[in-house]
Amino acid sequence: MIIVASSNGRIGMPAALNALQSGSVIDAVEAGIRLVEANPDDHTVGYNGYPNIVGDIELDASIMEGQSLMSGGVAAMKGYPYAISVARQIMEKLPHVLLAGEGAARFAREIGAESKDQMLTPEIVAFWRRKLEQHLPAEILATLDDQSALTEWVRLATDPERAYSTVNFIARDDQGNLCSGISTSGWAWKYPGRVGDSPIIGAGNYVDNRYGACACTGMGEMAIRASTAHSVVFYMKMGRSVKEAAIQAMHDLRDLGGPYIGVMNLIAMDKDGNHFGVTSMASRTYIMQTPGMNQPAELPRYFVEIPLRWETIN
Ligand code: ASP
Repeated sequence: MIIVASSNGRIGMPAALNALQSGSVIDAVEAGIRLVEANPDDHTVGYNGYPNIVGDIELDASIMEGQSLMSGGVAAMKGYPYAISVARQIMEKLPHVLLAGEGAARFAREIGAESKDQMLTPEIVAFWRRKLEQHLPAEILATLDDQSALTEWVRLATDPERAYSTVNFIARDDQGNLCSGISTSGWAWKYPGRVGDSPIIGAGNYVDNRYGACACTGMGEMAIRASTAHSVVFYMKMGRSVKEAAIQAMHDLRDLGGPYIGVMNLIAMDKDGNHFGVTSMASRTYIMQTPGMNQPAELPRYFVEIPLRWETIN
């Protein structure tokens, strides 16, 4: 048994390990991610994450299990902090894989998922306002509503520096079952309705017991364009090691064209539980734990340079 996670998953690791020992890989991933979603100090996942440009928080999440490749995801969901649990219920109760926006919230209500009227603390609302004041004229900021033209302001205000976190968990049991999950509040100050890689199976999240698993954090648009999580698993299917597969996928991302090239981080595991973390940001880490360990080990991620290309929009 083993669990790997992005380093902000530490708060959820004990619950994930307990769930893995008493339940399933799916229970483990859900339990671990829920605690990150509940953490008000993590501004990239769940409750109290960074909002979109009009100040609403919209959550993306997905879960996938590697035996059947069944999957569930929610995109741009408002009002329900435990996005991973809603994603799991979509996987288990619906013939669908992905629900977005009002449909996701409607389903969350239908299954009795816990809701929150206030998804942001006053501190985060004030932080959002201060950030926007740097880029938006006061009269625009005062009147942001459904009719406002946002394209220009999103281009100015979206913050690539704040698009580098999300929580990833991958769990493996002793029978070789794998499950991977992701949850995020997405890119800070994004356009309303923007969906990142996290809920998109094959982009931010992919697992297949026969080969392995991968989960991403970073510029979701890049992982969508390169089908990154699926690529890593596919490269393992083609016989590459987990390390070779993850590095190759990072090279694919580095070679994308266009101006919006930012940070990317992957964690990956092969079918035997060998794991690897890779990043385009120096000195990032990931964590792993097995039932015999008292606490998670924090491991360095291998660095692959992806030169940032953001200058054309600043
Ligand atoms: N991948 C997430 C997204 O693009 C954000 C992140 O991991 O920083 O929504």
